[in-house]
Amino acid sequence: MPASISAQSYYQATANARIVTSPLAGDVSTDVCVIGAGYTGLSAALELAKAGFKVVVLEAETIGFGASGRNGGQICTGFSSGQSPLDSQLGKAASKLCFDMAEESKRLIEERIAAYKIKCDLTWGYMHCIPKAHQFEHLKEMAEEYEALGYGGNTLLTKAELEEKLGSKAYHGALRESRAGHFHPLNYCLGLATAAQNAGVTIHEHSAAIEIETGAKPYARTTNGKVTAKFMVIAGNAYLGRTVKPLYGRVMPVASYILATEPLGKAGAEALIRDNEAVANTNFIVDYYRRSSDHRMLFGGRASYSTLEPGNLAEYMRPRMTTVFPQLKDVKIDYAWGGFIAITSNRVPDCGRLSPTVYYAHGYSGQGVALSGLYGKLMAEAIRGQAERFDLFARIKHLPFPGGPALRTPLLVAAMAYYRIRDALS
Ligand SMILES: Cc1cc2nc3c(=O)[nH]c(=O)nc-3n(C[C@H](O)[C@H](O)[C@H](O)COP(=O)(O)OP(=O)(O)OC[C@H]3O[C@@H](n4cnc5c(N)ncnc54)[C@H](O)[C@@H]3O)c2cc1C
Repeated sequence: MPASISAQSYYQATANARIVTSPLAGDVSTDVCVIGAGYTGLSAALELAKAGFKVVVLEAETIGFGASGRNGGQICTGFSSGQSPLDSQLGKAASKLCFDMAEESKRLIEERIAAYKIKCDLTWGYMHCIPKAHQFEHLKEMAEEYEALGYGGNTLLTKAELEEKLGSKAYHGALRESRAGHFHPLNYCLGLATAAQNAGVTIHEHSAAIEIETGAKPYARTTNGKVTAKFMVIAGNAYLGRTVKPLYGRVMPVASYILATEPLGKAGAEALIRDNEAVANTNFIVDYYRRSSDHRMLFGGRASYSTLEPGNLAEYMRPRMTTVFPQLKDVKIDYAWGGFIAITSNRVPDCGRLSPTVYYAHGYSGQGVALSGLYGKLMAEAIRGQAERFDLFARIKHLPFPGGPALRTPLLVAAMAYYRIRDALS
């Protein structure tokens, strides 16, 4: 990494104050043990503590260390897969209920930001941009599908209309949503953690669960202690690795990367995205980007099944950005970082129970900023005895990734090459 690039992410460099926690020391018993302090785990913890449960959260590293503190900050609509696997597995009526819950997940963010006064630069507005002219039909279908699902207020933009709003000639039009948007992901996560702690949750950072018992009497063991609980919520997502064997293979970690330019000034940033929307293209291997509150371009994309980070991440990412914004070819890149997305085979999140008292949710497939909060809330509802909404999602079947530990990465590298070619040809 060149000396000029910060070893921190932009989010770490601009993080709000963190709560003070200590590692787990000794044995404790509690109502609920949550593994992982990202949006999923913290959302479940917060809801359960508000309902009077005693909750202990174990986090291997620090709050927001995983995808929740590293992501593009894009608050998206619906599911990464679209509705079709939900339609085919659950039927149209239940699939619509799932979409309504995905809508609820966006409102949940808004409500929590207001209730807990979380400073995280929430901004509404989102543009899906098409790289090829013939894809305009696809945008129309997307708008119609949203309309049919009761989600209106979206606008189709022609190439000329888009170019008034976006300083790029790379696209042929866009669908603009007014109820999707962006925020500072780590600050939202830190805000959730503060709210959870204030509600009575005990969070232990630097406390990796190295052994997790998922049977009728669940417990999690760290190097210095053990949490025995009536219920367990497993929310380690792509970072869980092989700690819980039945969950390994249900998701695949895929790396995605983001760069942050130097500050471009208000006028410079407005010349790129005039109205401060989140932006993404419609490719399978998506570019996603937005402005930061201090007028940088935060540009994310690429996808890698390797767990090794590219040597010079900033220069690895720069061509993605300059393809869209050639005018940024000489700007300084201050930060570049990556993180792991957990994908499922059908790109619908995966949730369920490993025993009657052990819940898990993961695999938001690159679209979990909003959904993860919802799934956390649904696990809390189920633990409180209201499991209908959780069980609707838990009914969805997911094929495990084929190939076993040795072969699943090579198989996915091949799949990836296929999708790159498909994006290029479509
Ligand atoms: C680079 C990147 C960009 C993304 N961009 C977007 C986007 O713009 N929009 C969008 O909707 N989604 C995006 N996502 C996905 C989104 O960030 C995730 O779906 C979401 O944050 C998942 O939250 P989570 O709490 O389930 O998991 P995570 O945030 O990954 O949290 C899991 C936590 O569990 C901890 N953990 C794991 N194992 C253990 C253990 N054994 N003991 C204790 N703790 C453990 C980890 O340290 C980690 O902190 C992106 C993801 C990445 C990586």
